[in-house]
Amino acid sequence: RGATPQPPAGTPRLTVLSGPSGVGKSTVVAHLRTVHPEVWLSVSATTRPPRPGEVHGVQYFFVSDEEFDKLVANGELLEWAEFAGNRYGTPRGPVLEHLERGEPVLLEIDLQGARLVQQAMPSARLVFLAPPSWEELVRRLTGRGTEAPEVIDRRLAVARTELAAEEEFDVTLVNTSVEDVSAELLALMRIA
Ligand code: 5GP
Repeated sequence: RGATPQPPAGTPRLTVLSGPSGVGKSTVVAHLRTVHPEVWLSVSATTRPPRPGEVHGVQYFFVSDEEFDKLVANGELLEWAEFAGNRYGTPRGPVLEHLERGEPVLLEIDLQGARLVQQAMPSARLVFLAPPSWEELVRRLTGRGTEAPEVIDRRLAVARTELAAEEEFDVTLVNTSVEDVSAELLALMRIA
């Protein structure tokens, strides 16, 4: 993406981590959080119910449909998308505040959201997290054990088309190990 104007080297900017469902985006982000707790991660709003262990305000802000409608209507989301029957969105204010303070910002969002961010903020760097193989992706999507079979089927169908989106991204990281990928991500964000 050589034509996109980029800020000078060393300037923190928005980094968007995306990729197929089940590829391990949230595991990478969770690891990054433990290694570099000072890295600010955007917390999305979602209408999906919490999974066991998920905490309001940590993994997500869990909101009702009506609350989500209000966020959209008030222009409070930088982007939002519907994914597997639920809505997910990035609160705009905190992202802009951190960027204005010169701090790096990381978003972990789905592909539709990544495309919307790219339109809204062309200087954002889009990072595609790829699975080591399709078989591995199926194994991960099936193995989480928290979703009903029809939810898994829907996510697999989405993932197959999402894999083709890699070419739209600035950088691809292959998720061979959580440690390696989060180190590569931090290097891209010029944090480590
Ligand atoms: P999950 O339900 O597994 O936590 O997330 C489902 C998908 O929604 C994942 O691909 C995740 O990256 C994406 N997602 C999480 N937050 C957001 C967001 O704020 N916006 C968008 N567009 N996608 C999100």
